[in-house]
Amino acid sequence: MDNKALLRMAVQAKGRLNEESIELLGEAGITVEESKRKLVARCGGFPVEVLYLRDDDIPQAVAMGVADIGIVGLNEVEEKGYTVDILHKLGFGACRLSLAVPKGAGYDGTGWFAGKRIATSYPSILRRYFEGAGIRAEIHEIAGSVEIAPSVGMADAIFDIVSSGGTLVRNGLTEVETVMDSEAVLVGDPAMDEQKRAVVRQLLFRFEAVERSRGMKYVLMNLPRERVDEAVALLPGMKSPTVLPLADKGWCSLHAVIRESDLWERIEGLKAIGAEDILVLTMEKIIP
Ligand code: ATP
Ligand code: MG
Repeated sequence: MDNKALLRMAVQAKGRLNEESIELLGEAGITVEESKRKLVARCGGFPVEVLYLRDDDIPQAVAMGVADIGIVGLNEVEEKGYTVDILHKLGFGACRLSLAVPKGAGYDGTGWFAGKRIATSYPSILRRYFEGAGIRAEIHEIAGSVEIAPSVGMADAIFDIVSSGGTLVRNGLTEVETVMDSEAVLVGDPAMDEQKRAVVRQLLFRFEAVERSRGMKYVLMNLPRERVDEAVALLPGMKSPTVLPLADKGWCSLHAVIRESDLWERIEGLKAIGAEDILVLTMEKIIP
């Protein structure tokens, strides 16, 4: 790998996206040298190094080419407005940006916000939303603890990140409008050269193999031979299940990939047609 371009990847130094970003790299066979105190960490297993930043700074770092790629929430990308390529959605860090009002505020539609004070850390996204909806409201940018602004009299409503909604409930707020859905994305410097792009494609190939295996289980079982057709009908696997002969001619071994959410229903069906000794194994990667 020595002749390949070295990619620099921006990752959140600490916070909600840090752990899952590093975990994704690990699953893709990339080990990040420990020591978060360092700004740049070297990696094994792939020509990449990790630049630890605050998530707010990642879109700019990638747009400027300080990092070639980065993992950051789509919400930050949209808010900061820097030109970066969204290379891939990563499926973690899911949340939404929503407007919330105090319970009992008599919310009756977006017109309610006219002339109101809205506290947020995402003023650009909110401004664009209000402009699109033709609403004139006062946007108050605050850096943290947006959810307490209404109760201390700093705002009439808030616009903030919501995931479970628990924080809103604890602060007596009701979510009334979802403005955008977000998740962690891999962003890239639009000016990256072809050599680096080739390395990014290899990285995405690994990420996709990891993603495909998420929520999938590898299941093997023994089955009476004459029930194979029924089992195949029950198992819409990747292609069709693999059937292997056993020493006992009346039986075979059946292997299949099953989505975890369907697992118990499928297993009950298989048991009903005589499947025995069912093993359920974790999958690591699926490479088509
Ligand atoms: P930094 O110190 O890097 O600026 P931060 O405090 O701004 O960190 P975090 O709270 O760590 O940010 O959140 C990082 C990202 O995680 C958010 O921008 C968002 O994309 C995502 N996220 C997912 N769920 C949530 C949630 N419930 N609350 C906040 N962020 C969430
Ligand atoms: Mg931040």
